[in-house]
Amino acid sequence: MANRAYNFNAGPAALPLEVLQKAQQQFVEFENSGMSLMEMSHRGAIYEKVHFEAEALLRELLGIPDGYKVLFIQGGASTQFAMIPMNLLPPGTTASYVATGSWATKAIQEAKMFGETSIAASSESDAYKRIPSLSELKYSSDAAYLHLTSNETIEGTQWAEFPDTGSVTLIGDMSSDILCRPIDVSKFGVIYAGAQKNLGPSGVTIVVIREELIAKPANTVPTMLRYDTHAKADSLYNTPPTFAIYMMNEVLKWIKANGGAAGMETRNREKAKMLYDAIDGSNGFYRGFAEAGSRSLMNVTFTMASEEAEKQFIKESEASGFVGLKGHRSVGGLRASIYNAVPAESVRALADFMRDFQSRNG
Ligand code: PMP
Repeated sequence: MANRAYNFNAGPAALPLEVLQKAQQQFVEFENSGMSLMEMSHRGAIYEKVHFEAEALLRELLGIPDGYKVLFIQGGASTQFAMIPMNLLPPGTTASYVATGSWATKAIQEAKMFGETSIAASSESDAYKRIPSLSELKYSSDAAYLHLTSNETIEGTQWAEFPDTGSVTLIGDMSSDILCRPIDVSKFGVIYAGAQKNLGPSGVTIVVIREELIAKPANTVPTMLRYDTHAKADSLYNTPPTFAIYMMNEVLKWIKANGGAAGMETRNREKAKMLYDAIDGSNGFYRGFAEAGSRSLMNVTFTMASEEAEKQFIKESEASGFVGLKGHRSVGGLRASIYNAVPAESVRALADFMRDFQSRNG
């Protein structure tokens, strides 16, 4: 196999090598059909099998109880920032949001275009270095919903546990940590995630939604932005991103073969520990951005004493085959995204590189 970089990209991100190789093998001709899957009708039996297999695997791996629809929608998680209030925030009601960082803020800004919002809790005054504790959450019992971002990709923070919101619908943007660990789906009315970090390539966004929430929205909502449109047609109302869904299906098979969500959690905890240990054992040479109790298993963020030192680190790491370690421009510093498909060997190599870099520059 050609040289594989140590890929720490934030998304699109590393995919399992086995999946890429299988896709390569099936690329030109899919299952003796005389054509590529990409050349086929989405109404044909061959594509439909892939489509419904992906849905069934998501149901199995996420442990989705009865009474939920699984939708495949385009437009990225960013489109969900609008679809959620368009469909689920009726006039005269208020939606509550937890302001945990960059992505939560985008979701809030979008919702404000459609209705009333309130902030259930915010860590803005702590530079979004932490996830508010469950006891800090303040929202009305007649809120249309409570929205949270389970993993803040840019700041590198992650919810360790989710609130029980009773009659208030809980909505989670899980774009950067879906299937990184087992979760209790029944706590949520809606879970959504762009595929391009933990589930596959970009192009498809999954939405898991409780059936009773798929009511007919106000008729000013465009057809393609209504959950009922996609739910009624099993995500085949219009042409779905067939190749992205095929790839997601293969990634889901890989997750299943590697122990499912629980297997991912074990691997992810081991990987994250290697980097956090390198940070914590560095005597302040590396400084974790997130507070210890809010650290993400997926995006490890840290800074160094100066921007020059960080630049030098990036430069030398690139020369050693590491890709994607520059922090997001809005928070700076460094970030290693270690999604499900990032192999432990890559993470170990990075932890070793960090210690080596420190011994040469510390
Ligand atoms: N939410 C989170 C937590 C994200 O990390 C991202 C993408 N980085 C988005 C939303 C936006 O996703 P998309 O690019 O698919 O619109």
